Amino acid sequence: MKMVFTELKEHVDLIRDAFPDDELVIFDHPLEEEQLIDVARDAEVISVFIYTQVTEKVIDSIPSLKLVVTRSVGFDHIASKHAIEKGITVCHVPDYGAHVVAEHVFALLLASARRIPSADAFVKNERRFDFSNFLGLELRDKTLGVVGTGKIGAAVIEIAKGFGMRVVAYDVYQNKSLAAKYGFPYLPLEEVLGESDFVTLHTPLTPDTHHLIDATAISRMKKGSILINASRGGVLDSRALRDALTSGHLWGAGIDVLEDEAHPEKDPLLDSPRIVITPHSAFYTKEVLQRISQLTIETVKSYKAGSPVNKVPSEYL
Ligand code: NAD
Repeated sequence: MKMVFTELKEHVDLIRDAFPDDELVIFDHPLEEEQLIDVARDAEVISVFIYTQVTEKVIDSIPSLKLVVTRSVGFDHIASKHAIEKGITVCHVPDYGAHVVAEHVFALLLASARRIPSADAFVKNERRFDFSNFLGLELRDKTLGVVGTGKIGAAVIEIAKGFGMRVVAYDVYQNKSLAAKYGFPYLPLEEVLGESDFVTLHTPLTPDTHHLIDATAISRMKKGSILINASRGGVLDSRALRDALTSGHLWGAGIDVLEDEAHPEKDPLLDSPRIVITPHSAFYTKEVLQRISQLTIETVKSYKAGSPVNKVPSEYL
């Protein structure tokens, strides 16, 4: 069986050892559409990370293709609906530990609330100890608005309770046992935005959530609040956030994802004031890489055994 892996840098030997009888073609970088079609021409399995697009054209051009596995939670870079309609199985990593992204959310929130990156740069560049430009905000007793209370949203709520925060949430699906466990209400999106001191986004990117947080939504947020996005860039209108930061409506923002991560240089957020940006690194820990490799092996093995696990959830297609 021929399998093409793109963007695979870690645990290459682990994956090779798991499939000793198969032909593995491995790239440590993303492939463009035409390159992917060319190298995967007679492949049965394609496994990608987040920067290789498995488009309708890719799917239509590779008749031998039977399984697409993305080694990420998000799968908006795969034409999943089209693939499934053609009988191709599409799998992802359903969960490599939601706490990983949740911990990064608090890193971004604290970095923004306490102005950590600019304070750090100030001390190192100026070689002075002067706190006067780095007035911070506290988390305790503040309201955190969580948009999307799936695996990552729930892990964020658990941590928020440790900080002594009040939580309000919005989701199209209301998880009543989670709400009871952590004692938070589900409210309409407008109310979550209006009541929160900090808002954090944890929905998938779907046609319904594209620009869920646009200029109107941001105008509903409290003046002096902070917006965190570690979900998908397209959930947030970057220009609207830039305008809200420039006008001073928001205290700051913490961003781990952009609308077009292949061309970050064009993103309006890079020139916005009071923004902390990390390069989609929320998931990227030593421990996660090990778990992703193991889950990918498990997925491909289950497909080979005739009953694939970790299929993408059909409700989002
Ligand atoms: P999940 O599927 O467990 O939860 C998503 C939640 O969003 C669900 O509760 C769902 O009901 C809700 N939802 C769906 N559509 C909605 C809508 N229109 N309005 C409101 N809520 C809606 O997903 P997850 O594992 O918690 O991941 C959340 C997000 O984080 C995804 O976008 C994923 O791609 C992203 N992610 C980012 C990183 C990173 O490194 N930055 C890593 C992993 C996941």
